[in-house]
Amino acid sequence: MSPDKTKLVLHVCCAPDEAAVVAQLGAEYSLHCFFCNPNIAPSDEYHKRLDEARLVALKYVVDFSADEYEPQSWEAAITGLEQSGEGGERCKKCFELRLMRTAAFCKQIGCARFTTVMSISPHKNIAMLNAAGTSAALRYGVTYEPFNFKKNDGFLKSIRLSKELGLYRQDYCGCRLSRAERDTRIAARPAGGLNDISD
Ligand code: SF4
Repeated sequence: MSPDKTKLVLHVCCAPDEAAVVAQLGAEYSLHCFFCNPNIAPSDEYHKRLDEARLVALKYVVDFSADEYEPQSWEAAITGLEQSGEGGERCKKCFELRLMRTAAFCKQIGCARFTTVMSISPHKNIAMLNAAGTSAALRYGVTYEPFNFKKNDGFLKSIRLSKELGLYRQDYCGCRLSRAERDTRIAARPAGGLNDISD
């Protein structure tokens, strides 16, 4: 981390969103990317996203750490909410889990503030994200910065930048349930239809 800039832990979920946010914040903040995503399944998909996220941090010369991969913690968090659908209660628990771990990491490395790249996605509920971040911050005595990275065409910029950099861009949010929902959408589509991008 650079000593001249404000330190910020940046929770990252995938390389495309990470690249767009690092490009946006890098001049103002000394960033430490934290890959914390026990929601991602299966494990080869997890490792693919992790490897790509690490490459982005190397490219932009920012610190990078990864949490332990503990998918059982995500399963425990969403138990009973499997039918709630993307954007519902299971996502609330998923945000809380990941941002609680991120706040703990932030505290552990002596950083005062953190945020997440997830607000760049049009599929994420910003109020739900901010509530999860604020509550995690309170628990660990750090500050959550409620950025909304989807402003000013943030998501479109992320798509463009990921194409320029040749990054892997997933077509489902991350968990096994979102993967199954993706499969259902594809099956319902007329032959020859394009996959939509979902994160
Ligand atoms: S859809 Fe995405 S945010 Fe919601 S539970 Fe699954 S991985 Fe988490």
